[in-house]
Amino acid sequence: MDCLFCAIAKGEIPSTKVYEDDKIFAFNDIDPQAPVHVLIIPKEHIKWAYDINEENSAVVAHIFEKIPEIARSLGVNEGFRIVNNCGDQAGQSVKHLHYHLMAGRQFTWPAG
Ligand code: 5GP
Ligand code: ZN
Repeated sequence: MDCLFCAIAKGEIPSTKVYEDDKIFAFNDIDPQAPVHVLIIPKEHIKWAYDINEENSAVVAHIFEKIPEIARSLGVNEGFRIVNNCGDQAGQSVKHLHYHLMAGRQFTWPAG
């Protein structure tokens, strides 16, 4: 299977790593939409949020447990936004589950 984010997690494609452990990998987005824009992914290939289930949800919990540590390590102390785009209508361009951690500017809601 040809998956960009699996290749990034394995180090086969270079990225700017922000955090790594045995289960997850975090790296800077190549096209940042905020001063801090990190992508956090499970090392295990999960296509999208539709595929989160009882068997694999521990890694999703792990991502959310690590988000405060990752945010603080980047000097993010004034809030952040977590985004998951699931499916084409939501704008998911890479079909490997990922969470955008964005910070460092004022965000609007629901868009931008
Ligand atoms: P999505 O649109 O699927 O929610 O988010 C995919 C994100 O991956 C986009 O923000 C895009 O800029 C980022 N991205 C796409 N290709 C690469 C890449 O090769 N390296 C890095 N670091 N980010 C990428
Ligand atoms: Zn993958």
